[in-house]
Amino acid sequence: MPIATTNPATGQVLKTYEAMSTEQLDAAIERTDLAFRQLRATTVEQRAGWMRAAADLLDAERDEIARIMTTEMGKTYVAAQAEVTKCATAARFYADKASAFLADQPADADAVKATRAFIRYQPIGVVLAVMPWNFPLWQVMRFAAPALMAGNTGLLKHASNVPQTALLLEDVFRRAGFPEGAFTAVLVGSDAVDRILSDPRVRAATLTGSETAGRSIAQIAGRELKKTVLELGGSDPFVVMPSADVDRAAEVATTARCQNNGQSCIAAKRFIVHTDVFDAFAEKFAANMAALRVGDPMDPNTDVGPLASERGRDEVHAQVRDAVDNGATVLCGGELPGGDGWFYPPTVVTDLTPQMRMWSEEVFGPVAGLYRVSSYSEAIEVANGTSFGLGSNAWTRDPAEQERFATDLDAGNVFINGMTTSYPELPFGGVKNSGYGRELSELGMREFCNIKTVWVGEGAASAGAGAHAE
Ligand code: NAP
Repeated sequence: MPIATTNPATGQVLKTYEAMSTEQLDAAIERTDLAFRQLRATTVEQRAGWMRAAADLLDAERDEIARIMTTEMGKTYVAAQAEVTKCATAARFYADKASAFLADQPADADAVKATRAFIRYQPIGVVLAVMPWNFPLWQVMRFAAPALMAGNTGLLKHASNVPQTALLLEDVFRRAGFPEGAFTAVLVGSDAVDRILSDPRVRAATLTGSETAGRSIAQIAGRELKKTVLELGGSDPFVVMPSADVDRAAEVATTARCQNNGQSCIAAKRFIVHTDVFDAFAEKFAANMAALRVGDPMDPNTDVGPLASERGRDEVHAQVRDAVDNGATVLCGGELPGGDGWFYPPTVVTDLTPQMRMWSEEVFGPVAGLYRVSSYSEAIEVANGTSFGLGSNAWTRDPAEQERFATDLDAGNVFINGMTTSYPELPFGGVKNSGYGRELSELGMREFCNIKTVWVGEGAASAGAGAHAE
């Protein structure tokens, strides 16, 4: 895949980059490793000052950064502006909270025959981040803010279609005051990931991306015995039960499916609706979807911009065609538009069967699958009946049913009467083929910490730690 900025709204290649040579890559790893030695010697408060400065730069330069993001991957300019603001918020969250998240945590000294016992959180070194294009700033920031605040350094291998966003973020951290090399973007293709992760100076990796990339990175990391966090795909269920506010559910469903032009791992993708409210929901949902304005992502009135690549759009259309050819019904959309750019209309497809690709595959575009179920247990069976387990949504006003959904949905998160989203305050991640490990909150920060046990005895009189080994 070439490393280039190609405007998805026009198909025009605007800027191309040569991939780094092996020597340049080696120098970048060396810089990031040297920076780790500097960063680990700094205090949390020093790092917090730089992180707050990075947040200020993001706020000050929001519009220009957003314009670049829209040009590189097609999200609406309005959504890109909101993404930049969210990144600044997360940066401040970790700047404010890091000292509490990293504070020594006392343990029960008596129980382990110590005078003092505690857990100390320490950085582990250079962390490789392999990131996707869909939230080109946010995906990176939710790794970078906790990692840098913990004292790790970051080596970013961003998706090949968002090189300018990658370089821009490197520049923001440098100008904010972080030591040279603390956050380094390397312009390389995915074929360089093996070399980077095999390098002894690189201690761990985090990937947000497809299942294929996840398997590949997990394999390399297994061979090299390195820690990984994997945030992979999803095909989130959105269950609507008879007690739900159907109008509100249909409204939120539209946003939940079409945010980011339908290219979000936590977009609701399968709408599982109880038969008592199915017709009412289907009518409203299809009408809302059909009413969305598709067009120029820079136009503030646009709801849905182009998909990020021609290949991505072809794939989405092939999944819809496969369903239709096998007997599914299209309630709206489903036709490939002519003209420039990789646009795709908001689409609702129903009468799906397990033989169709849409039943089991993730659809990475503004296409909703609509399923009719006749009981709670059937809703759970369909909702959990995929290999994914990232986000999930349930709509019900029945408190007992809310409790059951919270337990029974097999996913990394459950949002009831709302749409799945990420917050710095809450852990984020999946189960099953959606990956493992968590980002955000204090749990995300500790993924790349050495969680060190410290046991202190009574000096000469103590039996010493050796007597209690393991
Ligand atoms: P992708 O093809 O896996 O690309 C993501 C990143 O991985 C890119 O930097 C890519 O580099 C790299 N990559 C691709 N194949 C690789 C391999 N075999 N080994 C090592 N690195 C590899 O994913 P995408 O199509 O861009 O993004 C969409 C996917 O990401 C969807 O499945 C979506 O659900 C998932 N996603 C998950 C989350 C989450 O938090 N769970 C969030 C957002 C997106 P190149 O660009 O150079 O190929």
